[in-house]
Amino acid sequence: MKITFIKPNIGRREHSLYVDHGRMEPLMLGVLAGLTPPDVEVTLFDDRMESIPYDEQTDLVAITVETYTARRAYEIAAEYRQRGVPVIMGGMHPTLLPDETALYADSVFTGDAETMWATVVADAQKGQLKRRYHGEPGIAQAGGLLPRRDIFKGKGYLPMTLMQYSRGCRFACNFCAVSEYFDRKHYIRRIDEVLKEIDHHGHKFIFFVDDNIASNKAALKDLCRELIPLRVKWFSQASLDITRDAELMRLMTDSGCVGNVMGFETITRDSLRESKKSPNLPGFSNYQQEVDILREYGMQTWAAFTLGYDHDTRDSILDTLDFALTHRFTFAAFNILMPYPNTPLYRKLETEGRLLYDGKWWLHPDYRFNQAAFVPSRMSADELTEVCHAARKRFNSVPALLHRFSDMKTNMRTLWSVVSYWKYTMLFRNEVYQKHRMRFGLK
Ligand code: SF4
Repeated sequence: MKITFIKPNIGRREHSLYVDHGRMEPLMLGVLAGLTPPDVEVTLFDDRMESIPYDEQTDLVAITVETYTARRAYEIAAEYRQRGVPVIMGGMHPTLLPDETALYADSVFTGDAETMWATVVADAQKGQLKRRYHGEPGIAQAGGLLPRRDIFKGKGYLPMTLMQYSRGCRFACNFCAVSEYFDRKHYIRRIDEVLKEIDHHGHKFIFFVDDNIASNKAALKDLCRELIPLRVKWFSQASLDITRDAELMRLMTDSGCVGNVMGFETITRDSLRESKKSPNLPGFSNYQQEVDILREYGMQTWAAFTLGYDHDTRDSILDTLDFALTHRFTFAAFNILMPYPNTPLYRKLETEGRLLYDGKWWLHPDYRFNQAAFVPSRMSADELTEVCHAARKRFNSVPALLHRFSDMKTNMRTLWSVVSYWKYTMLFRNEVYQKHRMRFGLK
């Protein structure tokens, strides 16, 4: 038997091809391959940079689907199903919207794969694939499962190894699909299994793709203590409350943490309250203290903002841009607040009749990447789209790149920081321009 794993792209640019140059290895497909019995052949096609050979023989196609890639994933599924090949889809989007996904797939997998994937493979081998499977969300790679990273070979992924220590998050930000998916729970792997995986792949630059690696600070401290002797470099995604724990900050730096993607979301107290971003709220005073501490420890911060709350105005968004430039963040993402399906934000906007694109922006033929998908309260949707893109452009202008680089405590701290600053900021700068207003899907 042969299983083909597919990582879909978002779509394409209006008048030219799009190749995702900042692509990271699709860890979850490596985990699925690791969960597949060894007598089953597996192969991976990554739609972000290679053509999918639909006519190549395969017995089952498994597609991982995010909301941004749903439209393209459904197109790929249609190609295979026309050829009589069964398709199963799983991931965040099918879990949040299984009934929608069921319209485009022979089988829908909701929840985590670890406990149920072997059953799927056995059913497929017998030609008895069920319409639905569900694996309870839980600890990643339990039992010490190692991802099959051999399927990533030759794909040109960024030179960093993706791993996971934990899944989920204890907070409940109102726009967050993770919080919905894991029902505010946080699942942590055994550290000896994490260390075994590092020893197995032998790579020294790791991206822990945890939703919030700092959701349980004691567990993160335990991990850091074990990482110190390994002399790796790592980064992850962490909530800003790490800055209130000096022991944690010290352990993170000592263990090789070079920085984190951090959800600042907004610099406005009212918007922060509206978003229910509780790790940012205690003692909020424009993040001065938090940013000072991050710089003191030499962390290269990738600040993530979500813009378009009911209290946000054009001016407050431009103030956010000034804030990001003043603090010379290594990178900043000026994301428009997106109503992900089944989140509290989605339900609120739906009740208020403010959703655009028939409430299904991820499928709508007129929706384009980076467009507002709802009616903001203090500007039009087009104004929100336009001011966020203006912020991205100014943050990535050449004078701004040089200004951000000039921070001796972070981006110029070591040779490694200098190299990674230029390498990744240039890469993601290009992505900002390339993805803007991209169509979803190819058709
Ligand atoms: S802290 Fe991050 S991961 Fe946790 S609920 Fe908020 S946005 Fe989601």
